[in-house]
Amino acid sequence: MVYTELDPPTRLLLGPGPSNVPPRVLRAMATPVIGHLDPAFLQLMSEVQSLLRYVFRTRNWLTLPISGTGSAGMQAALVNFLEPGDPVLICVNGYFGERMCEMAARLGATVHRLERPWGEVFTPEEVDKALQRHPAKVVAMVHAETSTGALQPLEGMAQVVHKHGALLLVDCVTSLGGVPVLVDDWEVDIAYSGTQKALSCPPGLAPITVGPRAEEVLKQREHKVQSWYLDLTLVQQYWGMERTYHHTAPVSMIYALREALRIVHEEGLERRWARHQRNAELLWEGLQELGLELCVPEPYRLPTLTTVKVPEGVNEAYVRRRLLEDYNIEIAGGLGAWKGKIWRIGLMGFSSRRENVVLLLTALRRILQNPS
Ligand SMILES: *Cc1c(COP(=O)(O)O)cnc(C)c1O
Repeated sequence: MVYTELDPPTRLLLGPGPSNVPPRVLRAMATPVIGHLDPAFLQLMSEVQSLLRYVFRTRNWLTLPISGTGSAGMQAALVNFLEPGDPVLICVNGYFGERMCEMAARLGATVHRLERPWGEVFTPEEVDKALQRHPAKVVAMVHAETSTGALQPLEGMAQVVHKHGALLLVDCVTSLGGVPVLVDDWEVDIAYSGTQKALSCPPGLAPITVGPRAEEVLKQREHKVQSWYLDLTLVQQYWGMERTYHHTAPVSMIYALREALRIVHEEGLERRWARHQRNAELLWEGLQELGLELCVPEPYRLPTLTTVKVPEGVNEAYVRRRLLEDYNIEIAGGLGAWKGKIWRIGLMGFSSRRENVVLLLTALRRILQNPS
């Protein structure tokens, strides 16, 4: 058996993640590995934390990258703030809200679901009513539902949640670095994300930030956190003042995240949000010109991920295969209830470029002229 040299194809990644990684980030990953307690590394860690505070728009001290993908961020957020028997209200309008319910149930929490059809979003009034019926310790929702392409407005949400004495926990995996995520202004208590979506870093880390209200809840826990690995109090002893060993930091991934965040900082968050919005609008216009129908109404349509209905008589998987094989472009199909019915097109981070939109639209037009 001969194992040939690694030579993956060069793809244009326009799916729900990972997005394309800028060469600068790839170069950062190829620099020498140093010890995870080396003073030089501790300095890099502090820089990563202050850059994360910048992208989350927060002053939260407890802000760090969890070792693991976005789902590890979800798991960390739930396992640290829910104890067995604790009531949690989870807003479900797509696949990732569903995943939160599954995780919370496995932790032994009492899960109350607030449901909306896929593609829709929740109002603070609905959450208020649901909390009157079922008081909860934590209210969890997905900011950017990658399965549906809906952007959950968060203005006014924390006020309602706090009125009932609960914490607001938000999944920002597909929003952070692509659309406004204003943790302090919106008074979000716990937010987590992933590196491979709008931050354009490879998959492998899950930034998380925890506000003072939630830190207090963490201190008041009755039982130890079930997950030793994701116990934020232990992880924070490494990322905080003490810098004591907990688990070995994934050094090369921290290099990558630092470089990806440096790029975000250089561009500036406002300019980056505007770029994502502009390119998404160009895509939406072009798709509609091709006669395609978008799944989510404009007021809460997500710029980082667009969902499109597959027209009658068109083979969904065939179109994606042609895009990949003939044009090296990756997009995705639907998840769960929307499997086979929609395409999901991501314009995240480094992938959100005007020329990519034009290329995708051109390729789609050609394929749809002969769609089988
Ligand atoms: C991708 C995604 C996740 C899970 O992240 P992984 O990196 O795949 O573990 C969680 N929530 C949302 C909204 C996502 O888009």
